[in-house]
Amino acid sequence: MRTLAIIGSGPAAFYTAEAALKAFGDDVRIDMLERLPTPYGLIRAGVAPDHQSIKAVSRRYEQVATDPRVRFLGDVEVGRDVEVADLLQLFDDVVLATGAPQDRPLGIPGDTLEGVVGSAAFVGWYNGHPDWADLDPPLDGPDAIIIGNGNVAIDCARVLAKTTAELAASDIAGHALGALGRAGLRTIRILGRRGPHQASFTLKEVGELGELLRATPVVKPEDLPPEAADAGLESGQRRVVQVLRRFASEGPDAAKPVRIVFDFFRRPVRAVGEGRVAGLEVMRTRVGADGRAEDTGETETLACSLLISAIGYRTAGVPGVPFDAATGRFANVDGRIADRLWCVGWARRGPTGTIGTNRHDGFALVERLAATPPAGHGDGPKGLDRLLASRGVVPVDFAGWQRIDAAEAAQARPGAPREKLVRLAALRAAAHAPAGA
Ligand code: NAP
Repeated sequence: MRTLAIIGSGPAAFYTAEAALKAFGDDVRIDMLERLPTPYGLIRAGVAPDHQSIKAVSRRYEQVATDPRVRFLGDVEVGRDVEVADLLQLFDDVVLATGAPQDRPLGIPGDTLEGVVGSAAFVGWYNGHPDWADLDPPLDGPDAIIIGNGNVAIDCARVLAKTTAELAASDIAGHALGALGRAGLRTIRILGRRGPHQASFTLKEVGELGELLRATPVVKPEDLPPEAADAGLESGQRRVVQVLRRFASEGPDAAKPVRIVFDFFRRPVRAVGEGRVAGLEVMRTRVGADGRAEDTGETETLACSLLISAIGYRTAGVPGVPFDAATGRFANVDGRIADRLWCVGWARRGPTGTIGTNRHDGFALVERLAATPPAGHGDGPKGLDRLLASRGVVPVDFAGWQRIDAAEAAQARPGAPREKLVRLAALRAAAHAPAGA
């Protein structure tokens, strides 16, 4: 019997579990430990609430979680309730699938002013993550700036730009829907330190900005490189640039009151304001021969009362596990951190790629596990139960999550799939509610 402890319950965790079930058959037991009472990681708390079709992948994870060889142990925090060293004593292998939930620091003067928030916090807030339920981002001013040219920046811009009606069928947290409904934003800037050819957007995400009810995209024709240069782009990037060219040639829709302005070739220099952010000083840039942004020496200050930095994420460190601060992930070689200790997904390779990229990661890791016989810690799950009980830790099992799921569905707004519970106490109460309650 091989025993596996997987820490985290997002896509990388579930694909690893799925691969292990396939590889080891009846000869495996998997415990999935999750800090929150709810599973699915980024699917629940990262994927945009108006992208419900992407969230449907959780049904596949549900099949894994309800397999008798797998247990979900929610509300168990590694580093608080149990240590990695404990798990290594109890299980043959321990896999960190903890993702990259922290914002990469912006690192410019003024980045601690009120109104400057990271995308992990902002996305967590609108997605009802308990850590960010009280973020309360300032939405009363007319101008927001989002730093970064990736899909997270687009998600943030789109959610800020949509009307209450456009978000009605989403599972956006009620507190965010209410606050966004009262917001007075008129200009949402998406700031890139390089140009359209270097942006990390994907086609669907850029295209959606042209289909919003009250918001219209603005691309400045002078930011677009000569069309002939598009020939050198990879096909996906070329199509993204074609959409940006279309936005530029059509110009903004004057009937729409909210403008989503692509501000390419601008590097953030400092956030300005007295106590709370009022603007962002930027340096105009050009892209050098090496593909990097070069300063032109020309600066300007753009007004904003909300500044979101969507410049990438970092893995959170875990006590006792070697961490590479430079890359913001666990120190590992092809997923191996130390003897019987592994990492997978964003915790291994950093915050890039689609959800499906983690499937390959999980299967590749299990191939490596299968190459060595189990170390002989067959008692994992029973031993973990004893350890948690001795520490007074009461996990939320998968049936507990299903009770949360049902409670959220029962209180959904009309047309929405769920209204998320956003407080740990409420999540725990729903999870541990007696049958029929
Ligand atoms: P990302 O795609 O890596 O984009 C990060 C952006 O931040 C880049 O444009 C980068 O510019 C910029 N940046 C980094 N440091 C900066 C700095 N100091 N100042 C200014 N700009 C800076 O990351 P992401 O948007 O966080 O997305 C993470 C992953 O999730 C990506 O693979 C993304 O595609 C995926 N995702 C997918 C979806 C979807 O499919 N719907 C939605 C959300 C996220 P440089 O290029 O110049 O470094």
